[in-house]
Amino acid sequence: MTTTAGVTHEADHVIFAVPGYAVPALLPAELRTTSPFAALADLNETPIITITLWYATKVFTDGNVYISPRDREHGPIFDAVADKAFHWKDWPKLKAEGSIIQVLIDAADDVLPLSDAEILAKVSQDLARFFPRCRGQAPIDATVLRLKNTYCGTRVGYWSKVPRKHQTGLAGLWLAGDYTAGVYHYGMESAIISGKAVANELLREINHAGFEILRPRYLPFVRV
Ligand SMILES: Cc1cc2nc3c(=O)[nH]c(=O)nc-3n(C[C@H](O)[C@H](O)[C@H](O)COP(=O)(O)OP(=O)(O)OC[C@H]3O[C@@H](n4cnc5c(N)ncnc54)[C@H](O)[C@@H]3O)c2cc1C
Repeated sequence: MTTTAGVTHEADHVIFAVPGYAVPALLPAELRTTSPFAALADLNETPIITITLWYATKVFTDGNVYISPRDREHGPIFDAVADKAFHWKDWPKLKAEGSIIQVLIDAADDVLPLSDAEILAKVSQDLARFFPRCRGQAPIDATVLRLKNTYCGTRVGYWSKVPRKHQTGLAGLWLAGDYTAGVYHYGMESAIISGKAVANELLREINHAGFEILRPRYLPFVRV
């Protein structure tokens, strides 16, 4: 294995724990067109935008994370909204008295061309539509964070492109990460489960007992 600094390391195993779309570029050219890597080259990252709005007063009454189906024509601009002031209420350094509303826009390709001011205006408008206490309340501060190169976008064809296993067909070369063989299409549980599953494969090779992998059972619609 050779790093970008040109340093070569010998290893029995190499685990790619990077987003799927980033794997092919890290491989020798002759492997990039082979399975399962060639299909990964068709994947792309999905841009994510998070907006934080600080209010002088409480505009939410609870700490629920409100998830919305983001209908690009009629729905709100956001996928999820929560008041972090509730989540952080036991943090001694929290000085804010009002709400700290965090807004998540996932798979934000369509929103990226908007300016920060346009995004903030649309978010304020949609908060007022769906959360009556936000009406007439302007935040005292706001930030717009545009995240890039995070996770694989789950676009049409995604499931036929991700390998859904950790083995690559090459001895000692493994894939881990939320896009591989988790119970969700992405998410922290899938990432952790994938890492433990690969670790167990390596332990099996040295006749060491594997570690238990807890499967989420708390959502009735998740089949494990
Ligand atoms: C804003 C946001 C909110 C989220 N909210 C939730 C949530 O509420 N619940 C939930 O379950 N999940 C959430 N997720 C998803 C969750 O963060 C991911 O599913 C999880 O982090 C994936 O873990 P991973 O190990 O597969 O990949 P990552 O955590 O993305 O780790 C991959 C690592 O690879 C590194 N890397 C990338 N390219 C290269 C390269 N070329 N060379 C070397 N290193 C590289 C990256 O820097 C990164 O450290 C959220 C993600 C984002 C961005």
